Amino acid sequence: MSLHPLVGHEELRASAARAFAAGSLPSALLLHGPTGVGKQHFALWIARMVVCAAPTPGGPCDSCGPCRMALNLEHPDIHWYFPLPRPKGASGEKLVTALESARMAELADIRAEPLRASATGDIRAIYLAAITTLRSSASKRPTMAGPVFIVGQAEMLVPQEASPEAANALLKLLEEPPGDARFILTSSDPGMLLPTIRSRTVPLHVPALPRDTVLDFLESHLDLESRVARWAADLSQGSPGRALGFLPDGDDLGPLEAPRRRAFEIMAAATARDPSAGHAIAASFPPAGARGLLDLFGFVEEWLRDLGAVAAGAQHLVLNRDALSRLEQYVGERSIEAVSVADAFASVEKARELARGNVNPQLVVSGLVRDLRGAIRRPNPTGAVS
Ligand SMILES: [Zn+2]
Repeated sequence: MSLHPLVGHEELRASAARAFAAGSLPSALLLHGPTGVGKQHFALWIARMVVCAAPTPGGPCDSCGPCRMALNLEHPDIHWYFPLPRPKGASGEKLVTALESARMAELADIRAEPLRASATGDIRAIYLAAITTLRSSASKRPTMAGPVFIVGQAEMLVPQEASPEAANALLKLLEEPPGDARFILTSSDPGMLLPTIRSRTVPLHVPALPRDTVLDFLESHLDLESRVARWAADLSQGSPGRALGFLPDGDDLGPLEAPRRRAFEIMAAATARDPSAGHAIAASFPPAGARGLLDLFGFVEEWLRDLGAVAAGAQHLVLNRDALSRLEQYVGERSIEAVSVADAFASVEKARELARGNVNPQLVVSGLVRDLRGAIRRPNPTGAVS
């Protein structure tokens, strides 16, 4: 297996190819845009254009030797870094080696299974030790062309508990890039990058794809029932990586479908007449570890948006189309008003802050359900509780 060719983004490709041909493609780029939309894929496409033996006016040929090596993630001058879980029990020089073998193992996994959901799951970061490896590669002469360094999810260079050292080490490279080295950073949250890194890279926005492009992508790369492909494309918000996250993983729910359903239960409990459902949901969370909570809260916000859209009579704005009739039922039976749903968003932001501060997830979730109830099911001005 090798990487599938890049999907969509035709206009962006055309302008990048023109700039490259004219010698004006900046040597430090920051690709930003929604999660799972294909930013790292786009970075790899630019890297292929740089190493390609016979680039066309539209970009890399994707068939010459260097392009094939790049598509197999085996090109010696394309260096792709991304966040990794911290290897257990390693520090100093050992951490450098352990992270590099973890990166190689992950590249082998991607080679074997290039279609991957953009779900987070475990806690990852880009450690200083990985940037040390990047620096030493950058100080060597390229084997064939380039080199190109890709740093995916670059905002993870500043994980909450770590010092900004990794980001500063990268900054030094961006300030004085050795030889013809190019750097392509990607981020779905560029506001989290150090301002000094932002100011040394040229931003390029990678937008969401049309829903039908995501559908084409799913249908051409996976053997899916068309009903399932359409369902995932509807939920994708224009991101192939997000669409993949909803698809079942063997007998398990997809890595994004599980938190989406959990978030639905939270929204349903918060709007129910009987408050006890909220206690049961909170108790189903572990007493420690914030793993996955931030994804979950993102989905709670999406459900609130959908609930608010239905309450405002704007059904066409509902993202979770598969739940439209349930949402209409809740809004009708539970007398939900759009204005109170809008007030509920602050509760999610509060829960997110608590989760970042490592508060017990059971407490965070029970507090969230209680706060959401308070906002959505508040007494109406006549004093009667709806
Ligand atoms: Zn080529």
